[in-house]
Amino acid sequence: MIKRILAVAGMMLALSSCKKDGMAPEEGGHDDAAFNAYTNHFLENLWKENPDAATQMGYHKYDSILVVPTTSNLQHLYKFAGSNMDSLARFASGSLSDANKIDYQLIQNELQKMQWHVKSLRDYEWDPSSYNVINTFAYILNEHYAPLDKRLRNFYEKMANVPAYYKEAQKQIKNPVPELTDLTADQLNGGVSVFEKDFADSLKKTKIPDAMQKQMLARAKQSADAIRGFTVWLSNLKSAKPRSFRLGRELYEDKFKFDIQSTSTAQQVFNAAVTRKKYLHGEMAKLSRQLWPKYFGKAEMPKDTLELIGRVIDTLSAKHVKPEEFQSAIEKQIPKLEAFVKQKDLLTLDPGKPLVVRKEPAYMAGVAGASVSSPGPYDKGGNTYFNVGSLAGWAPARAESYLREYNQYILQILCIHEAIPGHYTQLVYSNKAPSLIKSIFQNGAMIEGWAVYTEPMMLDAGFGNNEPEMRLMWYKWHLRSVCNTILDYSVHVANMSKEQAIRMLTHEAFQQQAEAEGKWKRVSVTSVQLTSYFTGYKEIMDLRTEYQKKLGDKYKLKAFNEKFLSYGSAPVKMIKELMLGKPKE
Ligand code: ZN
Ligand code: ZN
Repeated sequence: MIKRILAVAGMMLALSSCKKDGMAPEEGGHDDAAFNAYTNHFLENLWKENPDAATQMGYHKYDSILVVPTTSNLQHLYKFAGSNMDSLARFASGSLSDANKIDYQLIQNELQKMQWHVKSLRDYEWDPSSYNVINTFAYILNEHYAPLDKRLRNFYEKMANVPAYYKEAQKQIKNPVPELTDLTADQLNGGVSVFEKDFADSLKKTKIPDAMQKQMLARAKQSADAIRGFTVWLSNLKSAKPRSFRLGRELYEDKFKFDIQSTSTAQQVFNAAVTRKKYLHGEMAKLSRQLWPKYFGKAEMPKDTLELIGRVIDTLSAKHVKPEEFQSAIEKQIPKLEAFVKQKDLLTLDPGKPLVVRKEPAYMAGVAGASVSSPGPYDKGGNTYFNVGSLAGWAPARAESYLREYNQYILQILCIHEAIPGHYTQLVYSNKAPSLIKSIFQNGAMIEGWAVYTEPMMLDAGFGNNEPEMRLMWYKWHLRSVCNTILDYSVHVANMSKEQAIRMLTHEAFQQQAEAEGKWKRVSVTSVQLTSYFTGYKEIMDLRTEYQKKLGDKYKLKAFNEKFLSYGSAPVKMIKELMLGKPKE
């Protein structure tokens, strides 16, 4: 899978026992200075509540702490959110700068989401995968932000609570979802080597005295035992009527509201995706009819339009690079994309921040293709990388199927999406709008939406020489985002079956069986995230249309792109308010 790797952990269950929560803004503090002071204080307390998230954001003051998920800690989190809502309410958001207006709303959304998690979603009772301590331990081991000795000592101290943590997890879990139970077993059994092997390997590289090392290894064994014990306990849990992995309408709409932060409801976005799918099929049929004689000569055209489109796509997919050329083919795209963006004057690319292309590091291996990885919010000097994976060692059949998917056309679109002017370019702009709040609570729908938006923007400007083949393949690629939205909503809200889902993905979105099966697995262990691509794309397109209308003759694509990106990774609806002015009530 191609995805953007970010050092972002969801603000999950923050748990601790600090006494002082919110802070009142200073007297007469309806201004940005007071608000900035408040946000600093808020973050400091947030990290105290949630040391695991802090570590993964690059804030390392609480690396040695593992908070046990007790009920009283959950209640504490709920109160923490409430008192911060009170603090926030004392600011008049209208008197703040544009940048702070967005931060205000992002914090507000986050606080509401925290309370909703504790009181309504209650996933700590049914999602065992929320009890995965391994990621943070692995982060401490693998990221070189501090000397190894120091990281290992924090690792050791943090391990002290692992047995208590899993004992408490067993108390919290009431009715686990079977699919999530399986996922948890996979993740924990796969990841426990961090305690059983990686930690010991790292210890050997240090000068920590032997006696101490022995003690540290003993604790690692206790941790591994606790994790294995938990998975055994989970597998023995029997429930006559297990909870469904389907979220249901009410929780789904709420989660959509908090995670996507759209002006539309999930149902409205779903409806728009259904309409979009129909439109795409119509356009794809036209292009396929046009291309048929070129590839099939006088052979009879299939009557069924979906079959016709499928045949043409299948034929075009055969144009792909050799496995050993995959990596270099991606690298070669970058200068071409840069040159095109400049030539068409689509937006300014910062010459001081050239794209750093690197071979995918070993610890990320498995993410074939390409991805962008960016430094955490607290890692100011860190580089942003374009990671390119190789297909070395892949079985021929697997490589062939993958290369057909990432054929000559899609490969170019992939580079637009991941790098220029997609994710990479957006990140460079986002870093110029420095706000810790925006980089911590960054909006996934805006980020993915931007990457999707740039694909047709490039094609519209003539990228790919206006070849119908390129456009047809983009439609196929785009159908994936559109069908992600349809699938996610249909499965979680409307009870779509696995058979219906696979049929839609293979038959109507032209996906390979393996890809469709993978997508089914993803939709059964996640919710809402799959809608971010299409929702963000649609909102940016709608905003651009309105912006164009507002500016009339003065509208310029480049100016729109740069202005849009200047606000940072904020929800499109907030950027829209600032770009268009608040709608009059
Ligand atoms: Zn082939
Ligand atoms: Zn993306």
